[in-house]
Amino acid sequence: ATGGAPAPAPPIKIARKKVNVVEEYAKVDVKESANFVIIGHVDAGKSTMMGRLLYDIGAVDERTIQKFRKESEKMGKGSFALAWVMDSTDEERARGVTVDIATNQFETPKRKFTILDAPGHADFVPNMIAGAAQADFAVLVIDASTGGFESGFNVRGQTKEHALLVRSLGVQNLIVAVNKLDSVDWNHERFEEIEMQVSQFLTNAGFDPQNVQYIPCSGLTGENLVKRSAEPALTWFNGPTVLGALESIAPTARAIEKSLRISVQDVYKAGVTGGSVTISGRVDAGNVQVGETVHAAPSGEPATVKSMQVNDDIADWAVAGSNVVLNLNDIDPMHLKAGDILCDPLNPVPTVRAFRARIITFDLARPITNGATIVLHRGRINEAARIQALVATIDRADGQIIKKKPRHLASGQSAVVEIAFLGNGIPMETFKDSKDLGRVILRTGGDTIAAGIVDELF
Ligand code: GDP
Repeated sequence: ATGGAPAPAPPIKIARKKVNVVEEYAKVDVKESANFVIIGHVDAGKSTMMGRLLYDIGAVDERTIQKFRKESEKMGKGSFALAWVMDSTDEERARGVTVDIATNQFETPKRKFTILDAPGHADFVPNMIAGAAQADFAVLVIDASTGGFESGFNVRGQTKEHALLVRSLGVQNLIVAVNKLDSVDWNHERFEEIEMQVSQFLTNAGFDPQNVQYIPCSGLTGENLVKRSAEPALTWFNGPTVLGALESIAPTARAIEKSLRISVQDVYKAGVTGGSVTISGRVDAGNVQVGETVHAAPSGEPATVKSMQVNDDIADWAVAGSNVVLNLNDIDPMHLKAGDILCDPLNPVPTVRAFRARIITFDLARPITNGATIVLHRGRINEAARIQALVATIDRADGQIIKKKPRHLASGQSAVVEIAFLGNGIPMETFKDSKDLGRVILRTGGDTIAAGIVDELF
C-alpha cells in the first residue's frame, strides 16, 4: 500500500476441511456416551457410592480395594475404603487405581460414562458449576440416616443449593439416590417421607416430576447400585438400580451440525505430540477435525488442529458431546486459557462487556442491590462484574413483569438484570443460541446468590 489508509488486515487463511464429519458420524456405530455429575451434602455418601459402583461393575480390581480396606481398617475407619477409590490423591492413584478411575470414566455394555467431578464442600461450588454445565443428568445423593437427611436438607445444607444449581445449568434429569437406607433397616416410611419432601422441593425448583427417579440404596453395602437388592426388608421396591437408571436416561441431543464451540477446560503448554499447545475441553456444539483452522475467543487468534484424542483415543474428528484433547499448532500459549472458546472462524463467538439476563435468586444472606459487585461464573470462567441495572422482578411461571426497577432483590425471586464486566468481558452467546454459553451463575463472598440465562448481549 502506498500512503493513505493502512491496508486492511489480510483475511485469515482457513484450511479446507477434508472430511464431512456429519456423514462420517452417521456411518459409525458409536456407543452412546453420557456425562453426569454427583451432587449432595457433605457426607451424604457420594464418594462411597461411586467407589462401590465402580467396584461392582469391575472397574476397580479387588487387590486395590483390599489394600484400601486394610489401610482404612488400620485407621479404624473400615468403610472409608470405598470412598478412597474416588477421593484418592495422585499418590494414592499411583498405588494402583486404574487409569479409568483417574479420569472418572467407566463403560457398561450399553454406554460410556464420564463422572464429572463434584466435591461436596461448600468451597467447591465453582468446580461443580464447571462440571454441571456439561452434565446430561445428575445423581443427587441424599443421606437417609436418622438426622442425616434433616441436616443436609435444611437451609444451610447443600442439597437444595446443588439441586437449584444443576437445574439452572440446564440439567433436566435427576436420579435421587436415597442413600444409607441400610442404617434405618430399609424403612419404607422413611423413604416415602424423604421422597415427598424432596419431590416438593424439586418441583418448585423447576424439575418435571416425570424426569426424576427415586431409588432406595446403600453405597456401603451396594444394595440397588448395580445389582437388584436381595435384602428381604426391601421387597417394597421394584424400580431400577442406580446403574439401570443411569443407562435409561437419554443423553442430551448433540448439536453436531451447528457452528463449532469447544469450551477449553485446561491448557498445557508443551504439545504432547509436538503441537505448540495442548488443550482439553468439551465440544459443546458442531464438529472438529484434524487439519482444521479454529478461532480462539476472546484472543481472536487462529490455530490449526494438529492431532486429537476423543475420550482418550486418538481420532481424526470429534462431534458435540465429546470430551477432547487437541494438539494445536500456529498459536502461542499466551493466547489461550481455561474458559476460552475455540470456535468456527466463519462464525466466531463475540466477546461481550455487558448483557441482560433473567435470573433466579437463591437463599440470600443480604438482598441484591443495584451496583452490587459480584463474581460471574460460567464453566471455568470466573470474572468480576457489577449489577448495572435491576430492570424488573418477574413472575417465574409466565415471565410477566411484577415490578419495574425494584430497589433490591430478595431470596427466591425471578428478575431481569443487566450485568457489566469490570474487565474486558468474556465470549458469550444468548441462551437461545447456545445453552452452554448463555447461562451464568452469580456469586459473592463464596455464596451462590443467583443463576440465570442470557437474553441479550450489549
Ligand atoms: P461424601 O462426603 O458425600 O463423599 O461422603 P462419604 O462417601 O465420604 O461418606 C460419608 C460417611 O458416610 C462415611 O463415614 C461413610 O462410611 C458413611 N456412608 C456412606 N455411605 C453409606 C451407606 O450407604 N450406609 C451407611 N450406613 N453409611 C454410609
